[in-house]
Amino acid sequence: MAAAGEPHSSLHDTIVVGAGIQGSFTAYHLAKRGRATLLLEQFPLPHSRGSSHGQSRIIRSAYPQPHYAQMMAESYRLWERLEAEAGTQLYRQTGLLVLGPGTDPEFQQCCRTLAQHRVPGQLFTAESLQRRFPGIRPYCGEAAVSDHTAGILYADRALRAVQDGFRRCGGDLRDGEKVTDITPGVVVTVTTSRGVYRAKTLVITAGPWANKLLAPLGLRLPLQTLRINVCYWKEKVPGAYGVSAHFPCFLAMRANQAPHHIYGLPSSEYPGLMKVCYHSGTLADPEERDRPAEAAALPDIQILCDFVSEYLPGLVPEPAVVERCMYTNTPDGDFVLDRHPTFSNIVIGAGFSGHGFKLAPVVGKLLCELSLGEAPSYALEPFRSCRFPAQPHSAL
Ligand SMILES: Cc1cc2nc3c(=O)[nH]c(=O)nc-3n(C[C@H](O)[C@H](O)[C@H](O)COP(=O)(O)OP(=O)(O)OC[C@H]3O[C@@H](n4cnc5c(N)ncnc54)[C@H](O)[C@@H]3O)c2cc1C
Repeated sequence: MAAAGEPHSSLHDTIVVGAGIQGSFTAYHLAKRGRATLLLEQFPLPHSRGSSHGQSRIIRSAYPQPHYAQMMAESYRLWERLEAEAGTQLYRQTGLLVLGPGTDPEFQQCCRTLAQHRVPGQLFTAESLQRRFPGIRPYCGEAAVSDHTAGILYADRALRAVQDGFRRCGGDLRDGEKVTDITPGVVVTVTTSRGVYRAKTLVITAGPWANKLLAPLGLRLPLQTLRINVCYWKEKVPGAYGVSAHFPCFLAMRANQAPHHIYGLPSSEYPGLMKVCYHSGTLADPEERDRPAEAAALPDIQILCDFVSEYLPGLVPEPAVVERCMYTNTPDGDFVLDRHPTFSNIVIGAGFSGHGFKLAPVVGKLLCELSLGEAPSYALEPFRSCRFPAQPHSAL
């Protein structure tokens, strides 16, 4: 280990900044391909300050955008491979219901994408939905489509599995080491709180901290960082909305005219508590995520209380547990997977907009390909940084 300020002698093929799920998968793919890879994380691992912590995430092919549905087929295979390598369960199939007004264009687009990708599922009317899932009280005119392949990813376990896989392939993971400066060049120099490292290519996957690292490199992406309240609701009859009762995950579009989706996962991680969350939050700097919020700054929780009381009558309509997480949103909700516009050996993965976990195996593969200068496995047009108008940024 080099002392602070002392240059580290060896030259890495790639340095990846940020050991959330995206950076960890990128580093894993690079190490699997024999590249000397250093993964740097500012906090001691495991930590709960970013976006990848917690026990559960939804995995689904049900997307209105065909480009995500297309990537999901490979993502499921890569999750399965990681499961086999780790020898531990990372995914539990529960199915998922997409719920929405039958006439809603986004709902209809989701149905089309599922059909186009031959994802097994079923259409429901409000009546057939209530017959099949008596715990749901559908809105008038609501329809549903199911995605049978969907389920729960065990997030904390998955993050540990991919980091262990990276290390098994010879990767070097250093946590508790914050990147404080990046000097671009044919060889990129990275200064951390503990030392100085050099690499031929750099990948920045810093989650809600992305712009803090990109701004000194002359790039400011239009990212909004949001504090998300992760809410768990008590079942009136324990297990009624549980995985063992075959209750599915759900994604409710335009429920109660709410501007953002509401989603839920069957009870499993905390016995007797179902996770139901609002797909948006309050603007917050990641350093200040855990400041106590004013009650007035919690409109999302009020929306959820109303939804739970009307729609899921078997739950107590006030949250029993509220945890915190961060979203890093782009204006269109699509990710940024691209090279830096000036420094082509710096690759950026950012703006995962609250839906990036399930796709991390493919995101990591794409960022690995970009950093190796290879043709990417998927069309990257939806993910280019130049799709946004230039943002004001500090001069180089
Ligand atoms: C409540 C919630 C629910 C979600 N539900 C789903 C879901 O159901 N399905 C789904 O697919 N996705 C979901 N997501 C989204 C998904 O979890 C995120 O898209 C994903 O975790 C983003 O990962 P990341 O690696 O980009 O960010 P992060 O996990 O935040 O990782 C970035 C890392 O970079 C590190 N870092 C930053 N700056 C530096 C520095 N200077 N030096 C060193 N390290 C640094 C940070 O400490 C952090 O560990 C959800 C997210 C939240 C918050």
